Amino acid sequence: MTMSKKTTQLTFDPDALRQKYRLERDKRLRPDANAQYQSVEGDFSHFVDDPYIDSPKPRTGLRDTVDVAIIGGGFGGLITGARLKEAGFNDIRIIEKGGDFGGTWYWNRYPGAACDTESYIYLPLCDELGFVPKEKYAHAPEILAHSRNIAQHYDLYRNACLQTQVTHMAWEDDNKLWRITTDRGDAMGARFVIMSNGPLNRPKLPGIVGIERYKGHTFHTSRWDYDYTGGNAEGNLARLKDKRVGIIGTGATAVQCIPHLGAAAKALYVFQRTPSSIDVRANRPTDPDWAKALTPGWQKTRMENFNALTSGRVVEEDLVMDGWTEIIRNLISMANYRGKNIDPSEIPKLMELADFQKMEQIRARVDELVEDPETAEALKPYYRQFCKRPCFHDSYLQTFNRPNVFLVDTQGQGVSAMTETGVIARGQTFDLDCVIFATGFEVGTSYTRRAGYDLVGRNGIRLSEKWADGIRSLYGLHSQGFPNVFFMSTAQGGFTTNFPHAMDESAQHIAYVLDRCKTEGIQTIEPSQSAEDAWVDEIIRLSRISESFQAECTPGYYNNEGKPNPRSVQNSSYGKGPIPFFSRLEAWRKAGKMEGLERTY
Ligand code: NDP
Repeated sequence: MTMSKKTTQLTFDPDALRQKYRLERDKRLRPDANAQYQSVEGDFSHFVDDPYIDSPKPRTGLRDTVDVAIIGGGFGGLITGARLKEAGFNDIRIIEKGGDFGGTWYWNRYPGAACDTESYIYLPLCDELGFVPKEKYAHAPEILAHSRNIAQHYDLYRNACLQTQVTHMAWEDDNKLWRITTDRGDAMGARFVIMSNGPLNRPKLPGIVGIERYKGHTFHTSRWDYDYTGGNAEGNLARLKDKRVGIIGTGATAVQCIPHLGAAAKALYVFQRTPSSIDVRANRPTDPDWAKALTPGWQKTRMENFNALTSGRVVEEDLVMDGWTEIIRNLISMANYRGKNIDPSEIPKLMELADFQKMEQIRARVDELVEDPETAEALKPYYRQFCKRPCFHDSYLQTFNRPNVFLVDTQGQGVSAMTETGVIARGQTFDLDCVIFATGFEVGTSYTRRAGYDLVGRNGIRLSEKWADGIRSLYGLHSQGFPNVFFMSTAQGGFTTNFPHAMDESAQHIAYVLDRCKTEGIQTIEPSQSAEDAWVDEIIRLSRISESFQAECTPGYYNNEGKPNPRSVQNSSYGKGPIPFFSRLEAWRKAGKMEGLERTY
């Protein structure tokens, strides 16, 4: 878009920003893309040891059979377990590699960890448990405690296998069940299996030359070492007071823990490759009068209101009113500014203008809060807001005003090497007592790799082989050749900004299908070839719309580190958005024909 008469009234130059974004992206593009990372295995496998619980005591391997096995005890597994219990299924077993329920919130206990989506809509099943979180954005310990409460409320501890990692799953056609083997010697049977492994469950390390040579202390943020740092999830990391600490990465995790590291360490070096966008957080305690006045159904209404707004729908009231919904308010005000109602063909251009405007605010906030102009400039993100996960924090940027905190801006290049004593970046060596990896989780690698096991379906077909060139499913939930398996995932399914919302929609759908199986004596369900093919075609057709947006983005896990993955179009979520997707599932249930699912009795 060139500067038209109307756009001259803008306080920024869209052409200049577009050019700047492109330059910043190009600095970061690298040929090895997603292959740049060091996977956490072999000599690096200690990075994923569980620091929160003793090693499991030996137990006898299980050989029994359950109606439903749910793999993963995070939010997805908990919500599905809850919805199945509500539907009258009692023979359920949750298998979880951690020592307790909670998933992401079991593993991520770093200081400052908290949800970024409003807790009243993010914490699942609040209405059902009669629970209202203490703050607008709940901290990790409260979320972990709530996860345990859900498990207790729905009696999910009974029969659960914790500290148990699935190693293999195979379909036994004669017995019409899945045989699940684990690292605890189990070979249990399950008539139905729900795969709820979580999208970001496998930590990754940067593939830095010499990473294995470093002799100081190291850990990944998802396995925080409080023995070394002292303190707890609230901070107070007293044992760092005489330590020179380095942290690699400045994503959503780093943004939350850096203020605590800065407050405690003798010196903190923050190695930045790309700055995050940091918007206002404005956390606050829950108003007890508001909580008392909530009536049954309040959480669903609030979740749907947020989902409508973040899906671009115009609704009368914004119940959540936060940084996520603001982008939409911004869009509407931009449309008003142009003095006309939104014509659908104008929307992409208006979205871009609204995005520029939002990011200008984000950059201005850096100038307001960071005293040193050079540091402030380095902390400004130059890309479209949804190229990376937007962050919200009220003390991250100010941390760089501390005399003991140093931003090492690598100009998009990252840390170049590690030595026995520290880190080399920008041609300079930094000697460090401890290096913390805030380098995120595997995304874009194969589904079965991230799950940690393969599935062998009907006639010996492996899921890793079937999905080698892209996922093939019906509604993201079922895949032909893998009878009675349900996948909880956003791939080829519904994606919501508030993740647990989509999980609950899937969980309720699964409960419906299983209820039909029970009442009608259905032994197996599996999508027909034609239904699966049609769904995959539809996903691909609709997904192409966002291809150019992704290609222009700065590299990150949203766009396979800047190198379009031939599978990413096919593996994307439903392109019309979550509301049409949920309506589609609802219409399917209402029709009552189990269309597209082949059944045996
Ligand atoms: P991310 O993948 O978002 O961030 C990884 C960071 O490591 C990036 O800053 C990346 O830089 C950097 N990095 C990788 N390699 C190198 C290198 N060689 N040198 C220097 N830096 C490097 O991981 P996070 O754990 O921060 O977040 C993952 C996701 O988890 C989030 O996107 C969000 O979905 C979720 N999350 C949610 C939270 C919440 O709800 N409150 C809190 C935390 C996480 P670059 O950007 O250049 O790639």
